[in-house]
This record gives sequence, structure tokens and C-alpha cells, in this order.
Amino acid sequence: MPKIDIKLIEEKWKKYWEKEKIYKFDVKNNKKIYSVDTPPPSISGRMHIGHAFSYAQQDFIIRFRRMFDGNVFYPFGTDDNGLPTERFIEKINNVKSKNMSRADFIALCLKTLKKETPESIKDFKALGISADFSVYYSTIDKHSQKISQKSFIDLFKKKEIYTKRFPTLWCSECQTSIAQAELEDKKGESLFSTLKFKCNGKDLLISTTRPELLGACVAVFVNPEDKRYKNLVGKKAKVPLLDFEVPILVDKSVEIDKGTGVLMVCSYGDKYDVDAINKHKLNPKIILDKDGTLNSGKYKGLKIKEARKKILEDLEKAGLIKEKKQIEHVVNVHDKCGTAIEFLETDQWFIKILDKKKKLIEQGKKIKWYPEFMYKRYENWVKGLEWDWSISRERHFGVPIPIWKCECGEFILPDEKELPVDPLQTKKKCVKCGKNAKGESRVLDTWATSSMTPQIVASLVNSSHDSFDKSNALKVKIPFSLRPQAHDIIRTWAFYTIAKSLMHGNKIPWENIVVSGFVKLDGKKMSKSKGTGVDPQKAIEEYGADALRFWAAGSKLGNDLDYQEKDLITGKKIINKLTNASNFVFMNLKDYDGKKPKKLEAIDSAFLNRVLELVKKVTKYFLDYEYSKAKFETENFFWKIFCDNYLEIVKKRVYVETGDKRKSAQYVLYQSLLVILKMFAPIMPFITEEIYQEHFKKFEKTKSIHLTEFPKVGIWNLEDLKYHIEFDVFLKVVSKIRAEKTKAQKPMNAECSIDLHEGDYMLLKNKFLDDLKNVTNAKEIKEAKVFKVKF
Ligand SMILES: [Zn+2]
Ligand SMILES: [Zn+2]
Repeated sequence: MPKIDIKLIEEKWKKYWEKEKIYKFDVKNNKKIYSVDTPPPSISGRMHIGHAFSYAQQDFIIRFRRMFDGNVFYPFGTDDNGLPTERFIEKINNVKSKNMSRADFIALCLKTLKKETPESIKDFKALGISADFSVYYSTIDKHSQKISQKSFIDLFKKKEIYTKRFPTLWCSECQTSIAQAELEDKKGESLFSTLKFKCNGKDLLISTTRPELLGACVAVFVNPEDKRYKNLVGKKAKVPLLDFEVPILVDKSVEIDKGTGVLMVCSYGDKYDVDAINKHKLNPKIILDKDGTLNSGKYKGLKIKEARKKILEDLEKAGLIKEKKQIEHVVNVHDKCGTAIEFLETDQWFIKILDKKKKLIEQGKKIKWYPEFMYKRYENWVKGLEWDWSISRERHFGVPIPIWKCECGEFILPDEKELPVDPLQTKKKCVKCGKNAKGESRVLDTWATSSMTPQIVASLVNSSHDSFDKSNALKVKIPFSLRPQAHDIIRTWAFYTIAKSLMHGNKIPWENIVVSGFVKLDGKKMSKSKGTGVDPQKAIEEYGADALRFWAAGSKLGNDLDYQEKDLITGKKIINKLTNASNFVFMNLKDYDGKKPKKLEAIDSAFLNRVLELVKKVTKYFLDYEYSKAKFETENFFWKIFCDNYLEIVKKRVYVETGDKRKSAQYVLYQSLLVILKMFAPIMPFITEEIYQEHFKKFEKTKSIHLTEFPKVGIWNLEDLKYHIEFDVFLKVVSKIRAEKTKAQKPMNAECSIDLHEGDYMLLKNKFLDDLKNVTNAKEIKEAKVFKVKF
């Protein structure tokens, strides 16, 4: 057999699919659309192994649906309005975003992306992703900006958006407010110091990890049940070192046995402080600036950590520390930079979320989650929400918030026709007092745009761009059929998309969501920065995309999967075996006319029955998003039933017989191999296309295997298909005879004679003995009381 050149094959069919527009969405197709809300990767380098893993998994499902339903909408986009893209554009062009106007930077960004994106998308095409790349968007392009700004305006008009001066989560490193979804827990060591406050000339001990916030202290709390401090309530406590006084108040939330049972409330140490100050109507003392430095007193200009060190030294010198101990505790940090977050009072835009928790949980329940337990993560997230969605970011790059504010307090919105608009570039007069209004300088949280991906892509193919409230009249409708995504962004991308669809049209965004796991290496999470990343480009180069996809099909949705080269090797073996088996089959089909013979041989019928069962099982698995079971079932059938048995059974017949016996074998070989290829096609699109084009296309006519129909159970005349028990017995006997040959150290084709147990003999004697002789090379088969193989 000639060695097969996987690279050549994959290159050839990739080009063919593109040239023949095999995966193009057909607006004229009237079949029900299976629509996909494809995750947009960010273009800041090459595709990584995690992408290869999760995009392959979604592609298995979508390729199946294309063959099964005959009408798939599978667009492609890139997520380009976040920090990774900003850095990427800066690096490539050697510029600083902040030194340019936002409009200029976005223009440069779009220009650069136009050049760079096709290169990045190449990786996805090389993996065999069957998206329609002509339905393309970037989350920073004009169309996406327009939809995103339209969403803001719509929600503003619906009074779902408000602006408020409020202590919000703040990253002093990135110098922007952030959303709850961007928080990460980080374990760390902290110094827990017990400080001496004074009350009535006596020490009042309070433990804290944040002594630098002493200047921001506005009260101390004790529990009303705490007998130790009963007589102090209502009095004042003197803050150590700084010598100002704060009230001693009671609050039930204070834990009596935590620390000394006395709590200092600062503006703002954490969420507790924010709520406490609100509840007790205390006046906050803000001592922290946006850049994370202290803004007053002796420690002015120092960063938080420096200030903490300095004040501890001063407290120590003044003898105001009773005790210090190292503790381990969890700090909230910003997921992008790892900096501990602060609470700062700033004016921010919010989308109302907290008033919709119940509704959001109901919406989540209307969607089918695969695997099911991922729904729980969504529900827990919604239940645990403590803040509305803060959507304004003090960043330079991004989708501008489309609003102006007049000093009289009036807000001015743009006309829809003006979108996308940058309020820093366009002037507006106040509609009330006629003065010049000030354009909002901030941009939207990136999720505020990517939560609109269904509306963004739907409007790309719909005649009207008015997609999100009147989508009933349109071709691609919301809800979509499918959202594929990773589990770490359930609380962001999935959650925000569900929230937006609820607020814009009281809909769910998609009927199904499939959630993929992570790639691991030796059981550990991979990290590119630590150099443990596996390069999918190299894997494709060495083993081919089909083999990489074969590996990715090895785990169920939601499960993590170890990257193991041996799985790619197995994939490559299957590619070889499929090629060899196909060559064998078609070598014997040279005189085949494609017609069904009048009558099938019993063994051919029996085998075809098994093929039918395979189709039923695999179809069900794919419909349930269980592509790994579909793969396993097909693989097993192909090796064990088709290659090891059926090919051996018919070998002699197709070599020597003529007439109907030959035709029966030819017909079943053709049909069963075609079915097997179709079962494999969603997983391994390249090799299945190669074999289809080489051998089947002249009969089947359809221009790609991926556009053929997934076999439906009705393709054969069911009356032909029987002999279920007989086939089981047949396979069992063959396997026993082979075992005997192995035991006797004989080759598999060794001539033998068989004493067949009478029960088995009864079942096989009428129609199967010749086949049994063929496959075992037996010259004689006799009925007997005891099974025996003689050489
Ligand atoms: Zn940050
Ligand atoms: Zn005004």
C-alpha cells in the first residue's frame, strides 16, 4: 500500500471546501435552521491547544447537524475589543493607545486586524472548523459597535441602565472599575494585627489586616449580644495614631468569636464596609486615589502596600500593637492582572441585574445545558450576585458609551442613524437648555458587546439590521439552536448573554448550551506562560488535523482531557486503516453497477442489520451531544465488526464468486463502508472526504460527503434485515476458532476442521456454514457434542 500523505490530503480538501463554498450558509434553504452562536476567539497570536480542543468539539456537533438537518448557520467572529487586542495592536504598530485619539486607535486596530485576522483564522481552518467564514464580525467593527451601542440606548430608554456615584470594585493597576465577574480568589499570607483603640482611657482591641485604612475608619461595631462591650455602646473610640474619634455602634452581623469581637468599619475595606456604611448612614472618608495611593495625611502618595508597612512601623513604635500574627486568607483580585481589588466611590453606569435574579434563573432553566451540571454553576452565580452589572470602564480602547451629559443634569442620546458614535468626536447640545453637553469618555465593558453576539450575527445575514426586538420576521432567529463555550465564562459570557436577551426581547438567547472542559498535561492545568503548552500547529503538522480532532473527541463535554500523543497515534492508525479498507473494498467493486441485487445473502443481511444498529446508536449519541460515545461506537464497529470480521467473511466470495452472491457482497460492502465514513465524517472530516471523493462521489453525486445526508434508518428495506441471533453466534464461533488457532500457535488462515456444538450448528447450518468455512478456512464443519478445532 502506498503511504498516505495526510498533509497533502488536508490541504487539498481545505482548498476544495473553500472554493466550492461547502459550508456557506444558504439564505434560500427553507429547511429548519440549526444556528450557532460561535465563540469569538481573540486575535492576539496563534490558536492554542485549548481552542483546538473546544472548537473541534463544537465542530463535531455542527458537522453532524449539517448532515442531519441539512441547514446550518455557523458564523465566525473574533473578539477584538479587549485588553489582549489593545496590547497586540500596540506591539505590532509600535504605538501607545493612550497617546492617540480613541477613534484613531480603533481605525488603526481595524486596519491591522484586517491584515492579521486571516492569518489567525487559518489555524481554525487547518483544524477543519466548518464555519461559514464569510459571515464574519469583529467585536470592535462598526457593525458590532452599532449593535452594542443600540443595546445601551435601548436599555437606557427602558430604565434598565442607571448612573450612580457608588463604591465600586476598582483595580488600581488597570485603573478601571470592574464587574463582579472579573473577580478571582487568590490565597495569600497576611499580617493580622491587633491594634489598641482607646475608649474611656482604656484599650479597645481591634484586629485587622488593613491598618493602612485607619484614616478611613468611620465607626467600630460590636455585636449587641456581646456582654464584654455592652457598656461601651454609644460611646466613642479613639483611632490609634491618628487621634480622631469614631462612634461605637451595634450590628448583629459582627461575629463575637472572630478576633476580639470588635470590628473597624472603613471606607472601604470590602463589600461589608460598603453595606455597613450605607445601612448606618455613615459619612465615608475616602483616603484612596484611583491609582491606589493614599491621598491625605502623613502617608499621602504612598501605595497601599507601602502605606501598610509604614503605618505598622509607626504603630509599633508608639506601642499601639498588642499582637501580630501571620494568617492565610483569600483576597479578591482582578482576573486580568492579579491585583487586589479596592472599593472606590466613582460615577459608574450600571445595568440592573439584582432585580431580575428570579427571572434569570427561570431563563437559565429554559435552556438545555450539556453537561447538565453546568446549569448549577450558572444558578449559583446568579444567586450569589451582590451588585448590579457595572458596564463603564475607564479604558481608552473599546466601544464608546453613546451618551452626553449637560451640566443641567440632562442626558442626551444619539440618533440610531448616527451609530456607531464616539461622544468624544461628536458634539451635542442639550435638548433642555441648549448648552453644549459633555460627551461620555468611557467605554463599555467588553462583555456588554460580546453578550450581543446572537444579535450581531443574526443581523449580518438578515435583511434588516433591526434584529433584537423584531427578530420573528427574520431568517435567523433568536433563540439560536446552540451556544458552545468554555466553563470558565459561564458567569460572564453565558450569563450576560442570557441577561441581555431577557432585557431586549424577553427571550432566551439559545435553546442549548454545550460547555467544554480544559486541556491538561499529566493531569495538571496547562499554562502557556509556564512553557507547558502544547502547540496544536505542530501536532497538526505531525499527525494531521483529523488525528488531533480524534484526540479531542476522546472526552465528554465538560470534562477535562489530558493531551496524550498516543491518542493522536491511534487517530492516525484509524486514518490508515480506513484508507486500506476502502482500497480493498473498491478493488473488488470494479464491476459494481451501484444497483441493489434482488436478494441478499443471509450473512450480508445479518451484517447490514448491525450497520443499521450502529446508525441508530450513533444518531442518538450525536443528538444528545455525546460525540465521544458516537466516536467510540463507530471506531469499535469499524475495527471489530467491519475489518476483523465482515471483510474476512466476504473476502473469498468477492475473489472467486460471480453472479448474485458476488453482487450481494458488493452491495453491502459499498453501503456499509459509506455508512461508516458518514459516522466518522463529523470527527475526521478530511480523510472521510478523501475516501468519499476517491470512490463514492461518482455514484452519490453530492459534491462533498459533508453535504450528504446522515443515514436515516429507512435507507434499507427492513425486511431484508434479520438473523440477529445467528450473527451473534456466528461471531462468537469465529472468535472461539481464532482463539484455538492462537493457542495452537497456528496462523489465522491455517486450514482446519471444526466440530461445532450442536446448538450452534442448528442455528448456522442452513445459511451460514459456507461463510463460516470461508472466514475460518475450514475444510469441514460437523455437528458435535463438544466444540473442537482440529488441524
Ligand atoms: Zn487589573
Ligand atoms: Zn442642559
